Parts: sequence; C-alpha cells; structure tokens
Amino acid sequence: MKNNMSEGNKPKTPFKGYKPSWSYFLFLFLIFFLISLASIFKTKEISWLEFERNMLSQHDVEKIVVINKEIAEIYIKSERLSDTKYKEISEGLFGSNTGPHYALNIGSIESFENKLELVQQDFSPEEKIEIRYLNRTNWITTLFWLLPVGLLFLFWIVMFRGIGKVGKGGMGSSIFNFGKSTAKLISKDVKSSITFNDVAGLKEAKVEVKEIIDFLNNPETYTKLGAKIPKGVMLVGPPGTGKTLMARAVAGEAKVPFFSLSGSEFVEMFVGVGASRVRDLFKQAKEKAPSIIFIDEIDAIGRSRSKVNSFQANDERENTLNQLLAELDGFGTNTGVIVLAATNRADILDKALLRPGRFDRHIYLELPNKQEREEIFGVHMRPLKMSDDVDVKILASLSPGFSGADIANICNEAALIAARKKKKNIEQVDFMQARDRVVGGLERKSKIISPKEKKIIAHHEAGHAVASWYFKNVDPLVKVSIIPRGKSLGAAWYLPEEHQIITKSKFIDQICALLGGRAAEELIFNEVSTGALDDLEKVTKQAYNMVAYYGLDEEIGPMSFYDSTGENERLFGKPYSENMAKLIDKEVHDLITTSYQRTKKLLLKHRVELEKLAQLLLKKEVVYKDDLEKILGKRNLEFLMENND
Ligand code: ADP
Repeated sequence: MKNNMSEGNKPKTPFKGYKPSWSYFLFLFLIFFLISLASIFKTKEISWLEFERNMLSQHDVEKIVVINKEIAEIYIKSERLSDTKYKEISEGLFGSNTGPHYALNIGSIESFENKLELVQQDFSPEEKIEIRYLNRTNWITTLFWLLPVGLLFLFWIVMFRGIGKVGKGGMGSSIFNFGKSTAKLISKDVKSSITFNDVAGLKEAKVEVKEIIDFLNNPETYTKLGAKIPKGVMLVGPPGTGKTLMARAVAGEAKVPFFSLSGSEFVEMFVGVGASRVRDLFKQAKEKAPSIIFIDEIDAIGRSRSKVNSFQANDERENTLNQLLAELDGFGTNTGVIVLAATNRADILDKALLRPGRFDRHIYLELPNKQEREEIFGVHMRPLKMSDDVDVKILASLSPGFSGADIANICNEAALIAARKKKKNIEQVDFMQARDRVVGGLERKSKIISPKEKKIIAHHEAGHAVASWYFKNVDPLVKVSIIPRGKSLGAAWYLPEEHQIITKSKFIDQICALLGGRAAEELIFNEVSTGALDDLEKVTKQAYNMVAYYGLDEEIGPMSFYDSTGENERLFGKPYSENMAKLIDKEVHDLITTSYQRTKKLLLKHRVELEKLAQLLLKKEVVYKDDLEKILGKRNLEFLMENND
C-alpha cells in the first residue's frame, strides 16, 4: 500500500550538490596525521653512548629539549649538519631538517642531568649546552585514543543518515530533520492523477468522503448553524478494499493541501521521535489550513494501550499515540484541518482514539458485491485492450469475496498472460486463467508426481467433489483439477455464494466436504496419507470456531469465548476453566469424527460415481461442471434437501 503520490512542494535549492560532509573532516584529519608521522620518522632514536661519543663530546649539540621528563630531543648545530655522519637526518620532508634531529630516552631526569654534568665538566661556560624542559601532548597517543571515538561518531552519523532514508526521503532524510514529519505533501495546485472516477462502487463511502471535502471548502454552511466540523475520520475495511485509493481520490478532488504518511513512519528506534513527528505534522498542517492529513495503517501507532503493555511493549509507540491524541484535542474544531486515517484492524485500536472529538466518524468499506465488482472490473479494464468475448458479468460472478485489489491484480495478470501468448487482445480465457492463478497460485505442470501418487490425488479430489455435490449446503462446485498449483497438488473450485451469516448446517456440511478427500482415500485405498493436511487444518479451525466462538454446540450452549479486543487472552490466558477447555476439546473432537463418519457413509453410497470421477480426472486432469453433471447427475437442491441425512 505504497503511497506514490507526487511530491508537490519539494524545495529547490540552488546549491543542491553542496553538502559540508564529514568526509572533508576525515580528509583533513588524515593529512594532519601523516604530517605528524613524517616529522616523527625523521627524528632518529639513539643511545646515550652514541650521543655522548659522537655528538656531545664533539660539541655538535646546539640544545636539548626534555619532553615530558621522558625523552630528550636533540638539536644539532646547523653548521655541523653537513658532516657525513648526519647525512641521514640532515634532509627534512620539506627542505633542510630544522630538528629535533635525535631523540633519546632518558630514564630519569636526575640521572640524565648528572651524566650530562659529568661530560660537560671540562666545557667552557659558552660551550655548555642549553637544556629546556617542556610538557607536550603526545599527539600520536592522543590520536590513538581519539580514533575509536571518531569511528563511533562516524558510525553514528552513517546510521542516522540510513534511518533518515528509511523515512522515504522527504524531510526526514537528514540528521537535523530527524524529528520532523516525513509526510508527503500534495499541494492544492498539483493535481493528483486519481479522482473519484477511479474509485468504483463504494457509493455510501463516497458520499461521506465528499461531505468532508465540502466541510473544508464551505465551512460556513455548517458553522452557521452551530455545527462542529468533525476532526477525524476513520476509513475501516479489509485489506484491498480501496481505503488508500479513496484517500488519494480525496487528495485529487479536495483542492486543499494534503499530507499523507503511513502510521509506521512515526515509529522509530529512538525515543521521542514519533511524538516530535506528530507535533511537526500538525504544525505544518495548521499553517496550511484548510488541509487534510491522511495517516495510512494507523494501527501501527494506534494499537490499544493495554495494561500488559506497560511491562513489555513499546513505550515509544505509546508516546506517539499520546501525542496524536493531544494534537487531536489541541486544535479547535474549526481550524480547517481534517485527519483521515485508514486501518483494517479497527478492533485493536485504542478506545481513546475513537472517542467523540477524535476519530468519531467511521466510514466502512466492505468487500464489493457482484454489482460493485463489475464496476471495479470496468475501471481496471479501461486501459486494457480487450477482445469482444470478455464478459464482465461472468467475471464478476466468478469472483465472490474478491477485494478491489484482487480484481486489479486479475486484470493485470490477464494482460500479462495474453502478452505472453502474443495475442492482440485480452480474451475471456486469459481472465479465467488469471483468476485461477490469483486464487490458487501458479500452475506447476512440470512437478514430477508418480502414477501411484496421482491416483491418490485423483481419488482425494473426487472425494471432495462427490461430498460437496451431495451435501446440500456446500457452495456449487465449478471444476475439479489435479494439476499442481502453488503449494497444492489438486483442488476443487467452488463458487461461494455471498452470505452475511452462516447457519450451523452449512458449517457442518462444509466440514464434511473438506473431509471428503481424506474419507475417499480411506475408502478406496484402505490407507490414509499426509495429503489432507490443509483440509484437516481448516476443519479443526472451523470446528473450534463453531464450538468456542459461535456458540453452535448444544452441549456448551450459547456461549462465546471470542474476545474482540484481544486483551483478555493476553491478560488472563484462556477465558475459561480447565473443565470447559476439556469439554470444548471433546465437543470439537466429536463434531469432527461424526462429520467424518457421515462423509464416509455418503461416499460409500456413491462409490461408483467417485471411482468414475477419479478415472476421468486421471485422464483429463481438469473436469468441469458439465462432466461432473454427467457423472453425478444434476445437482437438485430440493431433492437433496429431502434426502439428506
Ligand atoms: P487498502 O488501502 O484498502 O488496503 P488500496 O486502496 O491500497 O487498499 O487498494 C489497492 C488497489 O486495489 C488500488 O490501488 C486499486 O487499484 C484497487 N482497488 C481497490 N478498491 C477499488 C475500487 N473500489 N475501485 C477501483 N479500484 C480499487
């Protein structure tokens, strides 16, 4: 859900390329270091004996400087430097060497002075050598000390730069803007390419969103009557239903500055950054009022602050949330800033965030119905080159439960498939293939499966098909295939009807249909395999949902241990006693085993059809509804209703 809105007001600086970078400091530092090293290497270390014999007694020494009471630096008279014995040190790095020429480790000052005194006993007063004492910082040692500190500093800067970049460029990309908001701004002059025309369906949501735009453009209409304009509007709905798209359309239509960012952009590793970004965002928005702020995936910061969190969780996130609440309270109702937020987890949001005066307006975006899916297909087919045989109505009816994002994906996949086949236009078959691919994953015909395994898979799928054909509450079967696709080795494809509620008998029939594969294996081969893992996982989950959540079990009665806030489980663990846990387990177990027996009984009754279908599958790999009807007979629901056991 990337927001690729164009940036409207990126500041343009004439000196864009110039950045006083740390690399210059590093360079200077290195030069300094090398010069120090060079002068040190030109000072030769000698022993007392050598010094006394070759220099001191020869009257070559001009002066001695004792450094830090440890080292004596010896300066040779310039006129004596031409002597061959000084050839080695007479030339410096930059012209003649002005000294110090030699260095001598003196041990202790007293002994050094005594030794000097002894040698100079016979010297005339003018010849006596001048000694000076100096305290000097040893740069080399200091540098070696400083090096790790410097490296740490460099590491710190590089890290900050990296983090800045994570904040998607924009204003957060430099160390000094770290606490600044990373929101992208679309200014009112820049026309966003997305308008309400690109948003299909969602009629009610569009009406509400348009009202928000009206609040900003004509506030007087509302304030005249004393109404308060809402501050926060929350777009709630499953992933892919067009929340971000809707917000982008608002940006396109509102003609006011639009700040957009994702909730996770507030959350950084460092304490206080999130809160400071929230402050900055609101400050900017207020300066540009009337304006809209859009926070995508607000659950990244708006998660409920439960008690447990105080022990373990992210304090930084809570600070950010508190700041957001404070800002929402802080600006008056008529300042002309409206905050839009999107989430698919409204249930886990902090209640304080949804309180009146904050995000008190909720716009629900739901999965599209058939008519809306048709419209969404229409929007995404607009830029495609379509063949005449494409029937949008059929496509829409074959994609129940699909979100807008799924449909966009199918359209794109269909275009890719058609292009791969070098077609001029995209045809209905391409859309059907794209749909299967989006639902089931990529076909993997090259996967090697032994004939024996293939036989098991064919009977397994035939078992699903037969069970779902004869249990009246299972969705209609469209096709059965034993071509490996994605992770699965075979599949039965259904056409789910759109229900808002599921009855108990439908639940049980669905469980039986899921168990059809395993039951067929047992019936035909007298042995079961691992192939039913996926089915069994679904069955077990469904059974637990039925018993513990939906209150559909007679023994347990109308009780639900579902916790929409998710807090109880974290606080107390399971919200029921040991005995209840045992009862739930027993009821789930009973439910599944009786369903399994029921399915096996049904398959036994229709064993001939089961085997016929399996043979056909082995021959054709994919069997469609027509062939299914030839083998299993027409699916007569009334008849099934009377004869269902
Ligand atoms: P959400 O934010 O709700 O998870 P998005 O807004 O990111 O979903 O939707 C993803 C994509 O799905 C959009 O870019 C768009 O192509 C497509 N889409 C979703 N809903 C619609 C719709 N109602 N009309 C047209 N396209 C849609």
